[in-house]
Amino acid sequence: MSEQTPASGHLVDGPSDPEHDPAASYALEPDYVANLTRRVVSTSGQTAPVHSPLNGQPIAHIPQSSTDDVAEAYARARRAQAAWARTPIDDRAAMLLRLHDLVLDRQDEIIDLIVLESGKARKHAFDEPMHVALTARYYGRTAHAHLDTQRKLGVVPGLTRVEVNSVPKGVVGIISPWNYPFTMALCDGLPALLAGNAVVAKPDAQTMLSALLGAQLLEEAGFPEGVWNVVAGVGREIGTPMIERSDYICFTGSTATGRLIATQCAERLIGSSLELGGKNPILVLRDAHIEKAAEGAVRASFSNAGQLCVSTERMFVADQVYDRFVERFVARTEAMSLGASMDWGVDMGTLISQAQLETVQAHVDDAVAKGARVLAGGKARPDLGPFFFEPTILEGVTPDMTCFGQETFGPVVSVYRFHDESDAVARANAGEYGLNASIYTQDGDRGRAIAREIRCGTVNINEAFGATFASIDSPMGGMRESGMGRRQGAEGIHRYTESQAVATQRGLRFAPMFGMSDEAYAKVMTANLRVMKKLGRA
Ligand code: NAD
Repeated sequence: MSEQTPASGHLVDGPSDPEHDPAASYALEPDYVANLTRRVVSTSGQTAPVHSPLNGQPIAHIPQSSTDDVAEAYARARRAQAAWARTPIDDRAAMLLRLHDLVLDRQDEIIDLIVLESGKARKHAFDEPMHVALTARYYGRTAHAHLDTQRKLGVVPGLTRVEVNSVPKGVVGIISPWNYPFTMALCDGLPALLAGNAVVAKPDAQTMLSALLGAQLLEEAGFPEGVWNVVAGVGREIGTPMIERSDYICFTGSTATGRLIATQCAERLIGSSLELGGKNPILVLRDAHIEKAAEGAVRASFSNAGQLCVSTERMFVADQVYDRFVERFVARTEAMSLGASMDWGVDMGTLISQAQLETVQAHVDDAVAKGARVLAGGKARPDLGPFFFEPTILEGVTPDMTCFGQETFGPVVSVYRFHDESDAVARANAGEYGLNASIYTQDGDRGRAIAREIRCGTVNINEAFGATFASIDSPMGGMRESGMGRRQGAEGIHRYTESQAVATQRGLRFAPMFGMSDEAYAKVMTANLRVMKKLGRA
């Protein structure tokens, strides 16, 4: 094994040559696992295994939370939240900045766990501590800008003083998926904590260890006991008890589950933000730099084996550059190295599970059976590990094929030729999703003009998805069936606060004064409104 794995020091029995030994065993020190799993609120006595998709073998058993345990997690959160909300903003922000340093210092350990649990390539796992560090730094540094009481215009200048407070919602429930198990479990919770909320987090059952390491790091960064509580279990079983006790729900996952959660939140009149699926397009315009576009297209389509909400599954390429672009895209895809490995140097890892493999295989089989051509990949690779699938490029995909409009959530992309750009925009906007798009062009103004026509929450020009995703000051989320609400930026923290307006009135009341009749009052106020408009008041 390379030097990276021993750096974390918690893996034992590592395979000598994991890239070529799919049956190799990866085991974690029992004490290390016990220290992580004790953070689950659980008295049920039940456990559920977590498997490594690198070889399909179990690596840990996670204590499971009953409905009573969920109730206990919320009780702990409620008890801690009141004191936490009174903790000075500077102290809360300092904890985030400590978390930033811890995550960078402990990245080997974090990445080891992510690779072990998700099977992704090490370079894709690195994106996770990086994203958590970026988020922690951003909110740590902008805490006052988002949370300080704001002065607003009063209705009567000089006599009505108005302030708006950002009051924490209370206890936020965070339900997260398996695909980015460390950052998806943590990043949305950081602004919630900073705003003075407590959190109950339910990470996906397949990737609990990465999420529990996140909980441990929060503790080490100084966040007090009870402000971050982890429950474990099957989403459809403990999701409802969570929603019943939350003041707000932040959900990341599939559109189907998001719809269910939004309905339950609506019943309780609590807010929710939903980061859901996508069928994300890339537009390669005729003036695109072909080599850069082909390089970006590989990252856009095959990062984390395509198990990425902002991953590209549809590629619209201008007629004039189609052949040259496709030749370069195929060549770069075929040159990718695949492997089940804890080490750097692998371009793409495995899918996470048999279920994911079956979906990907079914989408490709259906397309091929109906006449699509495979330009690259197209096959499962059991020789590399139980759930491997090659990075796959399809041509000739038509609306009757499943992968035309449905999210595959795997390493499968369809390429289409376009003749004029308005047609490409219309096709990119077709369907129900609207998460992320990319545009490759050497004309930035043109790219930005086209971006305004695209119905997606984020648009990256000359980049796959990282430019928007890593720019934490900007909002990230989906239009249409790709979600509601935004993570990151001001919206990403204000979803967790209630705006409270406080007006202090002096000298004048909002009723007739000095024996004035109601009619005279109405006339005075009407004259006043006219004067205010003339004076340019908002
Ligand atoms: P999923 O909806 O099945 O599961 C996501 C989470 O929801 C898990 O923690 C799961 O346990 C929980 N859950 C499942 N049913 C639930 C219920 N009835 N009540 C409460 N919680 C429940 O999603 P998945 O298939 O595991 O994840 C992949 C999907 O997530 C893809 O569609 C992908 O596009 C999407 N995703 C979106 C983003 C984003 O930021 N937009 C990020 C990552 C993944």
